[in-house]
Amino acid sequence: MRLTGSVVLVTGASSGIGAALVRRLTRAGSHVLAVGRDPDRLDRIATETGAIPLLADLSRPDAAGQLAARAMERYGRVDVLVNNAGVGWAGPFGTMPAERAEEVLAVNLRAPVELTRALLPGMCDRGGHLVFVGSIAGRLGVAEEAVYAASKAGLDTFARSLRLESACRRVGVTVVVPGVVQTAFFERRGRPYHRDRPRAIPPDRVAAAVADAIVRNQAEVYLPAWLRVPVAVQGLLPAVYRRLASRFG
Ligand code: NAP
Repeated sequence: MRLTGSVVLVTGASSGIGAALVRRLTRAGSHVLAVGRDPDRLDRIATETGAIPLLADLSRPDAAGQLAARAMERYGRVDVLVNNAGVGWAGPFGTMPAERAEEVLAVNLRAPVELTRALLPGMCDRGGHLVFVGSIAGRLGVAEEAVYAASKAGLDTFARSLRLESACRRVGVTVVVPGVVQTAFFERRGRPYHRDRPRAIPPDRVAAAVADAIVRNQAEVYLPAWLRVPVAVQGLLPAVYRRLASRFG
């Protein structure tokens, strides 16, 4: 897939990884539809890059369908969909308010499924690419992030299953599996990141890897790459992994 001239819809474009990706894609000559919820943040990134801003609250059931329709109105096609918007929540599961769980599942899982449902048929005809920004939490499970981890595991499996469907052989699918990234994500979920390891990486490193994965049609990208190791240990030696995880978290 070429980035130059492609129409790319990026959710979560107003901040962090999404904003870094909008900068990269516009520099590469893509026509970017930048989706966010906060009008000021979104306007700033749109003014800086020339991307087209589209406001949407993806926790609303009808948001994804409406967003896809607005994108089609603007360019008549979407070549690449980057499902990046996400929210977290941290704390013991028993104390998680039902409406927070609903929001996490709606933004992180339902909205990407609905956006994909709306935009995939056009991509099947012309060729295209789908990117899903998952999380290492979705591959491993994380204490006190149960619903977030479940939402990302669902997204991951949705993406991997789509890749197996033969109806859309011309559509590439990438799952991005970041560890810890230097964004506002942790403050926003209500618990800042304080650990030394794994070290947080800059959002532009994730953005560069996403852009590359679109061009090279990579199935999955771990950031950093060594995160493959705990996933492999969990798969091959689950009892050893459980012991290590309960000791080191
Ligand atoms: P971020 O800076 O907090 O960005 C989150 C983005 O999602 C923002 O643009 C935000 O929009 C958007 N968003 C949240 N709720 C929304 C809603 N209801 N409707 C529409 N947009 C909404 O965090 P980030 O780190 O860049 O996160 C990007 C993705 O990476 C997320 O899917 C996250 O789960 C994943 N990830 C992050 C990390 C990390 O360590 N940071 C690690 C693994 C995976 P507004 O700003 O306009 O509200």
